[in-house]
Amino acid sequence: MESRQKVITSLIIIFSIFFIAMVVSTVVNFREYGIKTAESKASLTAEIVKIGLTSHMVNGVMDQRDYFLDKIGTAEKISELWIARSPTVIKQYGEGHNNETPRDKIDTQVLKTGKIASLTTETANKSVMRVSIPFTATEYGTPNCMTCHEAKEGEVLGVVSMVIDITDIRSSSFKTVLYNIAITILTIIFVFIVINRFIQPFVNIFYSIRDVMQKAYHGDYSARITGHQNKESSAVANMLNTMLEKLQHTFEELDKKVYIFIKNKNYIKEQDPLININSTIERLSDIYKFKQTIENDKEIEDIYNRIASVLGDHFKLDDFTMIEIDTMNKIKKIVYSEKGCHCEIIDGECRADRIHASVDSSIFKNSCPLYTFEGTDHICLPYSISNELTLVLTIVTKSDEQTEYVRSVTSDIEDYITTARPAIVSKKLMQTLNQMARVDQLTNMYNRKFLDEFVDVSIPQATRTGTTYGVLMIDVDYFKMINDNYGHDVGDEAIRIVSGVIKNKIRKADIAIRYGGEEFLVLLYNCEEENIIKIAEAIRTEFSKQNIHADEESFSKTLSVGCSNFPKDSDSIWKCIKFADISLYQAKNSGRNKVVSFNEEMLEDKEVGESY
Ligand code: GH3
Ligand code: MG
Ligand code: MG
Repeated sequence: MESRQKVITSLIIIFSIFFIAMVVSTVVNFREYGIKTAESKASLTAEIVKIGLTSHMVNGVMDQRDYFLDKIGTAEKISELWIARSPTVIKQYGEGHNNETPRDKIDTQVLKTGKIASLTTETANKSVMRVSIPFTATEYGTPNCMTCHEAKEGEVLGVVSMVIDITDIRSSSFKTVLYNIAITILTIIFVFIVINRFIQPFVNIFYSIRDVMQKAYHGDYSARITGHQNKESSAVANMLNTMLEKLQHTFEELDKKVYIFIKNKNYIKEQDPLININSTIERLSDIYKFKQTIENDKEIEDIYNRIASVLGDHFKLDDFTMIEIDTMNKIKKIVYSEKGCHCEIIDGECRADRIHASVDSSIFKNSCPLYTFEGTDHICLPYSISNELTLVLTIVTKSDEQTEYVRSVTSDIEDYITTARPAIVSKKLMQTLNQMARVDQLTNMYNRKFLDEFVDVSIPQATRTGTTYGVLMIDVDYFKMINDNYGHDVGDEAIRIVSGVIKNKIRKADIAIRYGGEEFLVLLYNCEEENIIKIAEAIRTEFSKQNIHADEESFSKTLSVGCSNFPKDSDSIWKCIKFADISLYQAKNSGRNKVVSFNEEMLEDKEVGESY
């Protein structure tokens, strides 16, 4: 029930109780008053009858009392009046000619008890009261009762009974009740008008506040309080409306300002700006935490692993691969794979990278021929990290629901990858710089800085796993002459040709280092002893066949190679390198253009032994 109805119902109940109480009180009081009035009238009449009868008796005209009694009996509202003698009086004077004996039980009772008796009888249209008043003998006063009556003091001599019409009392009480009802109804109407007049504006504003607050609770701050009619309610409404205006404006502005920080604009916005602000801040906070974490990551692999853990933990993806594509050199590298790469991207061209848009096999089957995982779909998303680098994320889906879900979160994933972009770019740059610091610019071979790191990291590992290395020290014969005869540029070209020959003759797992000016060190991974010589010979022979061009003429050169075997010759790689260098020295000393393998005897050579 609404408050207004409650107030009205309460007022109706209060007024009804008051009204009933008033009616009952009026009726009861009027009845009392009527009875009292009738009784006092009866007493007065009885007294007059007593005095009249006494005077008739004293004057000796008792026989003429009928006229007197008739006249009294016809007095206003007295419908009947009679006298009854007590047995004592009857005994002394007889019953009288009007037969003045008790007419009913009430007369008899009053004669007996000496007490007034009254009885009210009410019918539909008439109310009467029967009153019987005793005459009691007394020997005091003048005339003295005992003068004429042979009676004792206090003895009842007779009774005067009368019937009094009290109908008019009843009707005036009825009229009073009606007046009261009318006054009460008028009062109620007046009270309601007053309540309505003064309370209605507050009731209206209360309901309006309730409605507006309900809407605000559900996120709609645009509703305003209406229905204010008087000064006080207008003040309340204006204050609340100003506050709502501020809230609406602030929330909307906040929502807009915070929203621009997120990339995903496909988000379904709630009606309540507070919910939107909260969810946007939550997402921003997650992304910020992610950003802070990857900024402290040391290697680019750490960042890729971090993205992978977000994809797994936050986005609940269970089968995905991240591929780094060098857009300049078209080099592809799988940088993370949750369940293995189901795409032959390394051997082919990535469609997503080429078209710079997502490739979704659920939209068009077999959209990418490189994807090989039967019975599944894939969504490949290319993210441009820099001009030279694209990161392709391949997500495998196994059901329509999963595909739908992945589509719904791609923009969110983009938020994370965009956040990680500066860190990836800087790590990539660092990687390039580090690589450059370890790579010789003329030959693109590793340099001695790399050798130092390689020895520190890989040789202990090789010792543990039993990996062997064939060590070649290569030096061009009479190189100085090239510089002297044809100039430094031709010398540089000769160095490039040697490095090209070396690279061609070794495998991927082998390591070639530009050790000095035109001196190269090669570490042959797990190479049989006889193969060390074979490879060295192959390099030597191949180089001697190369034409080195200088202006209009061309010429060829030879080289010498010294070989050693790690860990056969020494368990120290540095010693093995030195032994290869000693062997090279031997090759040079014994005529050049040859391959010489290390043996212990070389150390006995006086010159060599001294230098060693
Ligand atoms: P040998 O047969 O005994 O090795 O005689 P060689 O003339 O080759 O002697 P050596 O190996 O000592 O000569 C090295 C020369 O290579 C010295 C230097 O001028 C030249 N050189 C070193 N680095 C470079 C380079 O980057 N470019 C060019 N053009 N020459 C270089
Ligand atoms: Mg040389
Ligand atoms: Mg040299």
